[in-house]
Amino acid sequence: MSTEMERVTKNVFTNTKLRGCNPSFVVTSDGVVVIDTPQLPTKAVEMRSLAETHGDIRYLVNTEHHIDHIFGNYFFRGAGKVIHHQGVYDNFMTVTPDLDPFAYAAEAIPTDDPDGAEIFPDRDTYYQDPNKGDIVFTGDVTLHVGDHTVELIHTPGHTPGQLAVYLPEERVVFTGDTIFSECQTWLMTSDVDQWLAALDRIGELDVDSIVPGHGPVTDKSYLEVQRSNLLEWKDAVANAVAMGWSREETIEKVNFADRYPVDIGQGYMMDHIQTLNAASLYDKLTAGS
Ligand SMILES: [Zn+2]
Repeated sequence: MSTEMERVTKNVFTNTKLRGCNPSFVVTSDGVVVIDTPQLPTKAVEMRSLAETHGDIRYLVNTEHHIDHIFGNYFFRGAGKVIHHQGVYDNFMTVTPDLDPFAYAAEAIPTDDPDGAEIFPDRDTYYQDPNKGDIVFTGDVTLHVGDHTVELIHTPGHTPGQLAVYLPEERVVFTGDTIFSECQTWLMTSDVDQWLAALDRIGELDVDSIVPGHGPVTDKSYLEVQRSNLLEWKDAVANAVAMGWSREETIEKVNFADRYPVDIGQGYMMDHIQTLNAASLYDKLTAGS
């Protein structure tokens, strides 16, 4: 598991080789903007140190509220202002019937970051200051940081507060999990129709590189691959409903496990992903009947 950052452009760095999301930062003439944080504690501390060698951290933006994009914020306390869409802020580290995010972060430590155990906070300490948004917005926001424009574009679908972070001067966009590049798509509680519209919006941007939420850096051609993956899931479950299959039958028979691996370190979640994807679509498609 490498902690080396990949240089996407002169000023844009990411790491697609960690368990968790693809944490990234952009170096401007007036400090650093961090986009998502490493889930694993030692990696979060390392990335903060590395980012700070390029200047003070001015802002930290999270592209979504899922644990793999936000847990590392704790290790960035005191490093610039945290900017959240209202939808990220409202769902930040909230325990749901499906998932206790703190427990999920803790579960990764023995296998994926044993050295992180020493700096892993207990639950009470963590929740006292998880480093949640200082600045919270709805709609879109544009930041001017040094010579860089940083456009925070609301692209809901995968999650309600989903953001794309567009850097026109670098011709790069960070999409969070609106794009799962060459790995399994987690639908969870997403809204697939909104998600398809989000792909359209990202398609309008003038970029050479897309830094996805998971998997290798890609380009705009992958928007159509992601679209196709979403449509295939939706069509397959719609077909199951039309066939009169039960929820259980649908979960059993609709499965795209052979399509892609799960992103790094989470292979054991494959059945969980297939089950939740099919179940959540089934519930949505049958909600009106
Ligand atoms: Zn993610």
